Amino acid sequence: MKSEFVVSTRSPNEAQLNQIVPAGEPWMGVVKAGHYFRIVDLEGNQAVDTLFYNANDVSERYSATDTIRGQGNIYLTTGTKLLSERCNTLLTITADTCGRHDTLGGACSAESNTVRYSLDKRHMHSCRDSFLMALARSNYGLSKRDLSSNINFFMNVPVTPDGKLTFADGISGPDRYVEMRAETDVLVLISNCPQLNNPCNAYNPTPVRVLTWSE
Ligand SMILES: [Zn+2]
Repeated sequence: MKSEFVVSTRSPNEAQLNQIVPAGEPWMGVVKAGHYFRIVDLEGNQAVDTLFYNANDVSERYSATDTIRGQGNIYLTTGTKLLSERCNTLLTITADTCGRHDTLGGACSAESNTVRYSLDKRHMHSCRDSFLMALARSNYGLSKRDLSSNINFFMNVPVTPDGKLTFADGISGPDRYVEMRAETDVLVLISNCPQLNNPCNAYNPTPVRVLTWSE
């Protein structure tokens, strides 16, 4: 099982950006090439749905398929190169105290809430809504068609030997984090998942912290 527990040497006291993303809220920001980006699961078992774009050409974006094929493994952890659909490395995961992150489960949406739970869940706030709200507030010209398959940081979606996807209880915990180095200027789009129907976040969305360092 791929799981690489690696601690970072960077101190939050020296971070350039140190910001809370409230439960259920989106966040958008640019991480410059060579800079480091950390997401902290403050209370544990929060799912942080994340998309990455090349900040200088947002038509280039994170590709789950190319990332999985590139490393020959479905789980993301220390050492994983997060590839674009042009097979360029957008970021490299350099530290990880959770040990495993998902990129198969996708983001929750009104449609998936309806299919997976029930029709009366359709109105509930979803990651896709959060992504779209953040895009609408930005000036990158991105829209629904630009939402590709995302990463679910801190989310545990084990695949069984016969290939079944299981949305399992989280393996993360309070203050666990994942840290990555941007290999190009990267636009980060986060939905701090508002989901209330899924054990991935223990049915309880909680805040996360984002930090950046210049080296
Ligand atoms: Zn979600």
